[in-house]
Amino acid sequence: MTLQSEVIQKDQAYSVPVAARPDFVLARGEGVTVYDTEGKAYTDWVAGIAVNALGYGDEELTAVVNQQMNTGLIHVSGLYHTQALAELAELLCTHSFANKVYFCNSGAEANEGALKFARKLAYVNEKPNKTKVVSFTEAFHGRTMGALAITPKEKYQTPFKPMVPGAVVGEFNDIDSAREVIDEDTVAVIVEPLQGEGGINIATAEFLQALRQLCDEKGATLIFDEIQCGLGRTGDLWGHSFSGITPDIMTLAKPLAGGLPVGAILTSEAVGSAMEPGDHGSTFSGGAVVMRAAEMVVNRVLSDGFLEHVKEVGDYLLERLSEINSPHIKDVRGRGLMAGIELDVAPADIVQKGYEHGLLLVNSGANVIRFVPPLIIEKKHVDELAEKLTVILEEVDDQD
Ligand SMILES: *Cc1c(COP(=O)(O)O)cnc(C)c1O
Repeated sequence: MTLQSEVIQKDQAYSVPVAARPDFVLARGEGVTVYDTEGKAYTDWVAGIAVNALGYGDEELTAVVNQQMNTGLIHVSGLYHTQALAELAELLCTHSFANKVYFCNSGAEANEGALKFARKLAYVNEKPNKTKVVSFTEAFHGRTMGALAITPKEKYQTPFKPMVPGAVVGEFNDIDSAREVIDEDTVAVIVEPLQGEGGINIATAEFLQALRQLCDEKGATLIFDEIQCGLGRTGDLWGHSFSGITPDIMTLAKPLAGGLPVGAILTSEAVGSAMEPGDHGSTFSGGAVVMRAAEMVVNRVLSDGFLEHVKEVGDYLLERLSEINSPHIKDVRGRGLMAGIELDVAPADIVQKGYEHGLLLVNSGANVIRFVPPLIIEKKHVDELAEKLTVILEEVDDQD
């Protein structure tokens, strides 16, 4: 039996079957390429779902992680100070609207915490009945019970009802709809400045500005979920940078520690200082190795030319995708290295063909292929993608 079939058999026998994985086994990675156990190469347009911002095998990231490992301190829990945590917290606050940060371990956990932070602020302001949370159509905020309640997708929610109460859904990018659903009982409004799982939908600046204004009027906490679109992905440092306004809370996760699990809740002074010792916590929160990795990733994203590179390659990606002459492409959209093509054929077929052609691709929503590669990807990889996609889309035709 080959290693590949052995691994697949074991995985199928022992893993809870929540994911349908393709029939190869990834063994190593280098730059923007991953290799399977048979030695086949795949150019990675997924990056572990918008996570591996620096690709694979970044030497500085490896060195920083090793260095912290060598101190012996992987983890100390939230009970104690570490230099690693304090320095990352300062770095994130210096380069954002935020005055305070709380670290956790995933995106869903960051959003769960954000909801609690907003509730606590209302509580200390003696508005305990403010409990409505507004999210928007096609939003994705995570799979834990609180985050799931504000992720308005039947397929994700139905088997797990009843949902946590209080969730209200407005129409994404529709200011009138936002005005209808945000009221005095609203404790928080949560939105992705650029929706990732829901089909690569870009919030307009006007929409984000209107949310800011409505939250100010009604005393609600504005939360930007930048778990996917934040930290350089769009070619700006933050997904909301283009809008000219800032939220009260921003959640981060995916790319923050270059592939190690982490989440962060960035808050305004008012939100952060409403929290007191004992209000929130998590055993693994803010581990030193993860903090050092994140510090290195943030510094890389801030380094000279990094965001310019994302913009330049991102623009080129949109240009090359737009040039593909296929009747199956209904729309091409995105910002920076967060792009999508809307199709009239099932994305699953394209993803499958991608594997055959040595590409890792992933869908977003029902009819979009999304491109969220390592941020170090280059124009030559865009050329490869465009050429291969052209062929793949022709092959889909031949099958019909
Ligand atoms: C991935 C994602 C989440 C959930 O993050 P997990 O780490 O998978 O829990 C939440 N919001 C957005 C926008 C995401 O892309």
